[in-house]
Amino acid sequence: MRLSRYFLPILRETPKEAEIVSHRLMLRAGMIRQEAAGLYAWLPLGLRVLNKINAIIREEQNRSGAIELLMPTIQSADLWRESGRYDAYGKEMLRIQDRHDREMLFGPTNEEMITEIFRGYVRSYKDLPLNLYHIQWKFRDEVRPRFGVMRSREFLMKDAYSFDIDQAGARHSYNKMFVAYLRTFARMGLKAIPMKADTGPIGGDLSHEFIILASTGESEVFCHKDYLDFDIPAVNTDFDNISALQGIVDKWTSLYAATSEMHDASAFEGLPSEKKVSARGIEVGHIFYFGTKYSKPMGAKVMGPDGQEHEVHMGSYGIGPSRLIAAIIEASHDENGIVWPDAIAPFDVALLNLKAGDAATDEACEKLYRELGAAGVDVFYDDRDERPGAKFATADLIGIPWQVIIGPKSLAEGNVELKRRATGEKEVLPLADVVARLTRKA
Ligand code: ATP
Ligand code: MG
Repeated sequence: MRLSRYFLPILRETPKEAEIVSHRLMLRAGMIRQEAAGLYAWLPLGLRVLNKINAIIREEQNRSGAIELLMPTIQSADLWRESGRYDAYGKEMLRIQDRHDREMLFGPTNEEMITEIFRGYVRSYKDLPLNLYHIQWKFRDEVRPRFGVMRSREFLMKDAYSFDIDQAGARHSYNKMFVAYLRTFARMGLKAIPMKADTGPIGGDLSHEFIILASTGESEVFCHKDYLDFDIPAVNTDFDNISALQGIVDKWTSLYAATSEMHDASAFEGLPSEKKVSARGIEVGHIFYFGTKYSKPMGAKVMGPDGQEHEVHMGSYGIGPSRLIAAIIEASHDENGIVWPDAIAPFDVALLNLKAGDAATDEACEKLYRELGAAGVDVFYDDRDERPGAKFATADLIGIPWQVIIGPKSLAEGNVELKRRATGEKEVLPLADVVARLTRKA
């Protein structure tokens, strides 16, 4: 992408309305624009990151055996009357009337709809387990939308729903999502800790919030320090191996970790003082087993091996991709801007032409731009006629992991400069070596 032909509305001034660094940086870097309270347009740079996040989520959901579909954003009130949630949901639900005065709503979540789809088709235990997910916009009329896309009213959610014949099956489905989540967040460069969460009237231990530690987080959290160094389950984890998966979950729930609602002060006090982490956190995912809460009132049953009908046991599993972007920036930035982890950066490499208009510099940049593109590297080419300082500032602000800096002086000796955004480390290398250096994925 050539910056001269891109749409990157960078802000020079720090927007006053933004209270936290991720919100400030997303506005300054031209990633999002507020259209109304809690409603954001995703500008091209922001959309690129959102798409990268979604791609990782999809890969890990699919790997665990979940199957993608897509449900509408608008739902009918009648569906929600079946579960009893239409009246119970309260003011967070945006209620809408269509031209025939039918009551509709903008979905805040999809338990009812997925249960309706399930009961329309599935009749036998032989078709279970089943886990269906989508990545779709949700609307919740939050009392206090704030911090940009961290707590917005319209936000993206990956929500998965599992169906099993009994509780033991549901536990395995839960464990699959648990492990998929560990891998998903780790691939984004995050340390997400599963913390015990409220199960409400369902009870049991099958509810975890995945929390990123950050001083600007809205939740107060308590956990054992060793979680920060736990190994992430490998790519070849066998999701069908029930006991292996249970082993991973047991390990990741063996030490203390809870949000303030579930906090057990005396258990926490028992930890060695150097292992106590008492901090603030951002909830980026939530997994939850709720048994027959929806299948019972909505009549979602299957024939079991015993020849009897069974209400299915369900769980739901959410991730907030739009909130995740803000959480990643909270965890990864410096005074000059965003520092994207490689896996989700909007571009792989920023190519900075320090003297646009100079024939030799232009030629070297154009050639490198083509060659990197051909090698599958996503290049952000700053070809504008601008001062070098402005180019450095832009590249640092938008946080692209590598910068290739080409100016007439070093080019005369056949060299360019390579800078790693995260560390600021610079090296000089021959222009001819750049493609090999940047495609050596290490
Ligand atoms: P919170 O306690 O932060 O309001 P929640 O418990 O309401 O979250 P869930 O219903 O579990 O959230 O939704 C699943 C995921 O969707 C959350 O883990 C979070 O990542 C994301 N999410 C929820 N509400 C918002 C919001 N208002 N803005 C952005 N993301 C959100
Ligand atoms: Mg909420």
